[in-house]
Amino acid sequence: MTVETSDTRGSAPTRISSSRQEGSGGLWDSVKKAAVVIGSGILFLAAFGNSLTWHLQRFWGASGDFWQNLWTRVYVGFEGHETALFYLGTMLVPTLAFWGTNTLLLLVDTTGKPSFITRYRIQPEKNNPVDPVRLRHVLKTVIFNYVFISGSMVVISRYLMTMRGNPCGPELPTFHWALAELAFFSLLEEFMFYYSHRLFHHPSLYKRFHKQHHEWTAPIGVVCIYAHPLEHVISNMLPVALGPVLLGSHVSTTAMWYSVALISTTISHCGYHLPFLPSPEFHDFHHLRFNQCFGVFGMLDRLHGTDTKFRQTKQYERHSVLTSLTPLNDSIPDTPKKGH
Ligand SMILES: [Zn+2]
Ligand SMILES: [Zn+2]
Repeated sequence: MTVETSDTRGSAPTRISSSRQEGSGGLWDSVKKAAVVIGSGILFLAAFGNSLTWHLQRFWGASGDFWQNLWTRVYVGFEGHETALFYLGTMLVPTLAFWGTNTLLLLVDTTGKPSFITRYRIQPEKNNPVDPVRLRHVLKTVIFNYVFISGSMVVISRYLMTMRGNPCGPELPTFHWALAELAFFSLLEEFMFYYSHRLFHHPSLYKRFHKQHHEWTAPIGVVCIYAHPLEHVISNMLPVALGPVLLGSHVSTTAMWYSVALISTTISHCGYHLPFLPSPEFHDFHHLRFNQCFGVFGMLDRLHGTDTKFRQTKQYERHSVLTSLTPLNDSIPDTPKKGH
């Protein structure tokens, strides 16, 4: 299992960085880059999914479709309590993913240890360790947004989804359909997040609604949903929640998408450029400079030229999946004086 997985994973960053080197800007370049990123992601998921299923079947001697059998067992176990099944999938699973990841990050942020993690800090002199008073203030808003706003939006989503079908049916979507759905959700999120986020940067809206999120010029994981309630609804929740409603997705796909979205926004705010994880340099730079890098993947920033300053920086040179254990601040230092 690990051989196939690491092969596919290893190939993605190589292709991403080579496409950048030949890139001379422009829309075509960004489309090519997006195609490579999405293509590598789909290949990785396909290889991972197939090999995982194969190994699981071999290990436990499961016959037929392993995931379908597993789901059938869960479905039968719930004896038709589909509401409970929906909320366990869309609330409990993403909650474990989000708070599990953020608890680990908070341990590092508050103690400044261990150094094998903190040496990957993007802005090394910041949050070392994080100010406990600021953190307490953030956590109050984050918990409010998470429980009351996100919670009610999931309830509304369920209402809309059950109007058009049954999101908790006994039959799972095929693996390839689920992949296609995840690709669609990602593109929809990029589109909706980019434009709503840019709107919140308009001078007439910025101070009242978006300045709060930008109090952190060097963000940490939980800051991803530290925002004014209106911003949390429009920019954080709608771009993620709309996709499954539009496609009438199965609860299993929705649960996976919510978890992926929460973990990826946590990583993009976490402040550490860790090996083998998506690069957080893009959004970290947005917090540092305010008027660059508004999107999630960067396709629309390339299209609208809102990444031109970013692309002249060291942060841009570091903006790829780190495939060695050497921190990028060491291998690509800020200025000559910081070099060894
Ligand atoms: Zn942010
Ligand atoms: Zn912003």
